[in-house]
Amino acid sequence: MRVDLHTHTRASDGTQSPEELVEAAAAAGLDVLGLTDHDTADGWAAAERAADAAGIALVRGMEISTRLDGRGVHLLAYLPDPTYPPLVALLDEVLEGRNDRVPAVLERLRTVGIDLTEEDVARVSGDAAASGRPHIADALVARGVVRDRDEAFARLLNPGMPAYVDRYAAPLRETIEVVTAAGGVTVIAHAWGRRTLRVPDAEAIAELAELGLAGLEVDHQDHDERARAELRGIARDLDLVVTGSSDHHGTGKVGHDLACNTTDPEELERLLSLAADARHASGRGAPEPLGL
Ligand code: AMP
Ligand code: FE
Ligand code: FE
Ligand code: ZN
Repeated sequence: MRVDLHTHTRASDGTQSPEELVEAAAAAGLDVLGLTDHDTADGWAAAERAADAAGIALVRGMEISTRLDGRGVHLLAYLPDPTYPPLVALLDEVLEGRNDRVPAVLERLRTVGIDLTEEDVARVSGDAAASGRPHIADALVARGVVRDRDEAFARLLNPGMPAYVDRYAAPLRETIEVVTAAGGVTVIAHAWGRRTLRVPDAEAIAELAELGLAGLEVDHQDHDERARAELRGIARDLDLVVTGSSDHHGTGKVGHDLACNTTDPEELERLLSLAADARHASGRGAPEPLGL
C-alpha cells in the first residue's frame, strides 16, 4: 500500500485542480492520498468525488501556518471538522493575513523597479483561498520578470530578499488544541526543513506531544538523512506517528513529485486510529477517511 499524506492543489498554491491531483496520484500508483492545502478545506469536495471515481482512498486535511516562539511552523491537520467555528475563525485569520500582505509586497517590488498590480496577482490566484507568495511568484513569471517560482523566491520573496514581507500565523499550541477539539489530529510538517535548523527541538516537541500533537513528518525532501534519523528517534521516544510525504504542488515546486516519500501503512493506521479517538471525543462528526 502506497501512502502520500501531504499534497496541494489550486485551492492553495498547487498548480493542479483537485481532480487533476487525484488522477495524478492514482497514475503514480498511490493507494492513499492526503490532501492538505494551506489553511483551507476548499478542495475537499471536488477531491472526494474524484477519489471515489478513481478508486483511491482519500484522507482530507489541511496544512496550517502557525508560529512557535517567533518561528513559522507548518502544522498538518487531518480529518478535523472544517465547520468547527474556532477552526474556521483561526483559518480565516491566516487567509486574511496572507491576502492583506499582498499590497505591501507589491510596494516593495516597486522599490526595486518591478511594477506588478493586484490584478496581476488575482489573475494567477484563480480559485485559491488566498493569494500567497507562490501566486505573486506566478504573476512575476507571467510578466517575464523571473523564469519560475524558485527564481522569484530566491531573488525577491524569501526572507532577506527585497520583497519579503512577513504575515500573520496562528499560535501553534492553540492550533493543536483547536484541531483536536474539531476531531482532527495534528502532525508537524517538514519539522526541520532547510531553514528551521532543528527547531522545534526534542524538548519543544515533547511539550507539543503533551498538548496532543500526534505525529512528525519525517520523510520530506527538505530533510537530509541525518535530520530524518534524528527526527525518527525523537518520534520513537515520544511515541509519535512518523509520516512521509511528497508535499507535491503540481509543477509549482521542483523535486516534490507525488510519492517521492511515502508513509508506512502501519503508521497510517496509528494516525487514523488517533483520528477516530479524536473524532469520538470531540462529538463534532468530523470527517472519516474515504475508501479505506
Ligand atoms: P506564504 O504562506 O504566502 O508566505 O507562502 C509560502 C509558500 O510558498 C509555502 O507553502 C511553499 O509551498 C511555497 N514556497 C516557498 N519557497 C518556494 C520555492 N522556492 N518554490 C516554490 N514554492 C515555494
Ligand atoms: Fe505551499
Ligand atoms: Fe509546508
Ligand atoms: Zn505543503
